Amino acid sequence: DDSMERTLILLKPDCVQRRLMGRVLARFEDKGLNIIAMKMMRVTPDLAKKHYAEHVKKDWYPALEGFITGGPIVAAVVEEMLGATSGLKAAPGTVRGDFSSSRQMNLVHGSDGPEAAQREIALYFLDEEICANEPAISLWLRAADEG
Ligand code: ADP
Ligand code: MG
Repeated sequence: DDSMERTLILLKPDCVQRRLMGRVLARFEDKGLNIIAMKMMRVTPDLAKKHYAEHVKKDWYPALEGFITGGPIVAAVVEEMLGATSGLKAAPGTVRGDFSSSRQMNLVHGSDGPEAAQREIALYFLDEEICANEPAISLWLRAADEG
C-alpha cells in the first residue's frame, strides 16, 4: 500500500555498542510499525556526508562523522501501520528520552518526513532489499472504516 508512510531508522553506533538494538527495535514493533528492510553495516565518510548534507558545513560535523562512522550501525525501513493521530510521532523521541543522556549519542536516527525518508532510504537500500509485507495481524490493529 503506497499510502503508508515509510521512514528510515538508523540504530547508531552507540546503540549497537550498548546492546540496545533489541530493546529499541521492540519499541517500534510494539508501537505497530512494520519493519520492511533491515541490515547491519558501516557508514562510510562519503555516505555520512550525503546523509548529513545539511550539517556538513557546521563546526561539529567532523565530530558527527567520526561518531556515525565509528562502529557498525543497523539501518531499517519501517512502515507506519497506525495513523499519525495514534501518537506515533512521539515514539522515536521516547527512545532518546528513556535511554540517552547525550546530544550526539542519541541512539537512533529517524527521517524528518516523507521527502527526507525517500531520499535517505535510497542512500541505504536498493529497491529489491525492501521486503514489503502485510502482517496478518493488521485486521486487529485498526477497523476497516478507519482508512
Ligand atoms: P536529529 O537527528 O534529531 O535530526 P540534527 O539533524 O540536529 O538532529 O543533528 C544530526 C545528528 O548530529 C544528531 O542526531 C546528533 O547525533 C548529532 N549532533 C547534533 N548536534 C550536535 C552537536 N552540537 N555536536 C555534535 N553532534 C551533534
Ligand atoms: Mg535532522
